[in-house]
Amino acid sequence: MSTARTHADTFSLAGRVALVTGSARGIGWGIACGLAEAGAHVVLNDLDPAALEPKLAELKAAGLKGSACAFDVTDEQAVAAGINAIAADQGRLDILINNAGIQRRKRFVDFSYDEWRAVIDTHLHGAFLCTRAAIPHMEKGGYGRVIMLGSIAVQSPKAQISAYAAAKGGVTSMVRALAIELGPLGITCNAIAPGYTATEFTKVLHTDPVFTAKLMERVPNGRWGQPDDIAPAAVYLASPGAAFVNGTVLTVDGGYLAFG
Ligand code: NDP
Repeated sequence: MSTARTHADTFSLAGRVALVTGSARGIGWGIACGLAEAGAHVVLNDLDPAALEPKLAELKAAGLKGSACAFDVTDEQAVAAGINAIAADQGRLDILINNAGIQRRKRFVDFSYDEWRAVIDTHLHGAFLCTRAAIPHMEKGGYGRVIMLGSIAVQSPKAQISAYAAAKGGVTSMVRALAIELGPLGITCNAIAPGYTATEFTKVLHTDPVFTAKLMERVPNGRWGQPDDIAPAAVYLASPGAAFVNGTVLTVDGGYLAFG
């Protein structure tokens, strides 16, 4: 048995700096709280700086460490400037959670090119831009964890979310390609694939009792997921304990995909 590291050290993020995109609410906010509770300094990000102020105040009121950096993950210049400023202010950037996302639900033939592009831009190109900007700082700091938000929609899509399923498929493939490329640099790249989680993103679904009743036939755990269900997976993948976990997708879905 190794005695060099305690159980607490294995999952501690003390001294680490983490950026969570799209963390003014929902899963991103849940992950931000989880990382901060594990000891990280968490940088909250979203489109709207005003939305970040109360969340940062909440974090600090709980005695946790954090700051805010608003930018649009699809804006190449803003991403580079934001991430470089975080690394300059905090002295390092160890953990990137590519969480920001949007949904457009409509029939495939009704998608305008702009609507299709907006979904792909936010999930796939946003993850590309943020990860590309973060890697040099992780390499310099000698610790790197890139975590994407995938989805069970990759294996089990529904009608009317074709752009989203395509974007998440791209993100999931990128995880494996990046794992191969970044592993030698001491940086891991993994994804979390949440199941149906009650947030603003899924409000139209989780407020619909008919949809929820049908969904529960497929969720062995018998309930909607909550952001707090997803956060521990991010803490684990970001931690020293996950140093040898690379290129994988950790599904957190209450057993939804167990039905195959
Ligand atoms: P929410 O809609 O609740 O939160 C998403 C956040 O991302 C919002 O605060 C939003 O800001 C922000 N955002 C959107 N576009 C950008 C952008 N271009 N730059 C920066 N921030 C942006 O969604 P969830 O918390 O539910 O989802 C988070 C992630 O988890 C997404 O990637 C989603 O695909 C994934 N996921 C969610 C599932 C679920 O059931 N909820 C299931 C599987 C995966 P604004 O309000 O200003 O748009």
